[in-house]
Amino acid sequence: MIKTHKTKMYPNAAMRLALQNLFSYRRYCYNQALEVWNNMYDESVLMADKSLRPNERKVRNELVNNKQDWQFEQSARVLQLAVSDLAKGWQNYFNPQMPNHAQPRFKSKKHSKNSFKTDRAKTVAGKLRLDKPRGAKDWYDIRLAERPRWIGKLKLATIVEEADGYYVSLSIDVDETVDQKNGNLVTAVDANVARFDYKDANGYQSVSTISDKLLNLYGRITKYQRLLARKRVANPTNFRSNNYRSTRAKLKRDYQKVSRIQADILHKFTAQLVRDNDVIAIEDLDNLHMRMNKHLAKNLHRSMFGQFKQIMQYKCEWNGAKLVMADRLYPSTQRCCRCGYIKTGDEKVGLSGNRKHHTGHNEYVCYKCGAKMRRDENAVENLIQYAQVN
Ligand SMILES: [Zn+2]
Repeated sequence: MIKTHKTKMYPNAAMRLALQNLFSYRRYCYNQALEVWNNMYDESVLMADKSLRPNERKVRNELVNNKQDWQFEQSARVLQLAVSDLAKGWQNYFNPQMPNHAQPRFKSKKHSKNSFKTDRAKTVAGKLRLDKPRGAKDWYDIRLAERPRWIGKLKLATIVEEADGYYVSLSIDVDETVDQKNGNLVTAVDANVARFDYKDANGYQSVSTISDKLLNLYGRITKYQRLLARKRVANPTNFRSNNYRSTRAKLKRDYQKVSRIQADILHKFTAQLVRDNDVIAIEDLDNLHMRMNKHLAKNLHRSMFGQFKQIMQYKCEWNGAKLVMADRLYPSTQRCCRCGYIKTGDEKVGLSGNRKHHTGHNEYVCYKCGAKMRRDENAVENLIQYAQVN
């Protein structure tokens, strides 16, 4: 079982330089790979020959065979993993089940995150040792804020630069088997824009996903993004002024705060779910299409639901709980949990209730058996029933 542990790291000046170099090299390889990929694809279309279609192996060989002299002093693993990430990106793009299926795009220095991966890293005495590239003179182990939380073989290290420094995610292959829980305790989570609804031993509960602080940060991020965009338009050749940089630094800090607050909410909630339950049903959310309140910073808040699914997937595995993903077409909102009646047409409950029958946004009234419930309790109950038969 692969477990990951993210921790801060403290590279010295020489290693910071090396990391920056690796970030640019990762970006270079990814962009090159994308270009080759696109060209191969165009060619296959022009020649109407499917055998010319690009794949990971072909693109990687093309890049390796056409390496420039300077590239031989760079990490070969960074190149290979960049191509492999691109291949995964395309796979996700064509897989409608993936929460964030955006088309792979060229990464610009301005907009993309600084990161790279390597599967040759080691942890030595609580420090991270990266594979030393050929010809590198100064090469040091990097101090980590915490010792790796898991014992096992280090499979992959993902290094990222965030607003306040460098972090590494260690993916460790842990040799342990988890007993599957017996499956008696079943719950379900109905994810809404502002909260998660679920059921525990004491009845229906909900956890808010929005706080004033989060809303405030969303607002600030939107403001900074607008400011930066305006500066880029106003002064396209020389927008990297001190003013621009400082606004960008503020933006990055707020991004980091948002992702920490969101992660905190998600981790606390999911930890409790997998601890108290054996089977958990959730909707297979397609968060790109999730309906949002127009006042929210849509993409920022939406990303929470993609993360929720991901975290649930691995935490259930780690704890021996079963995750049931309800089919996307399962009408958990429209179905009556008492009699199974499914609303269609103008009877459907929308975000703001039902116009024809004048019901409110959190009301479910069954027109067949007459049951009156809260809308999210009905949805939770439907998902629980789904988990029991699937
Ligand atoms: Zn009913």
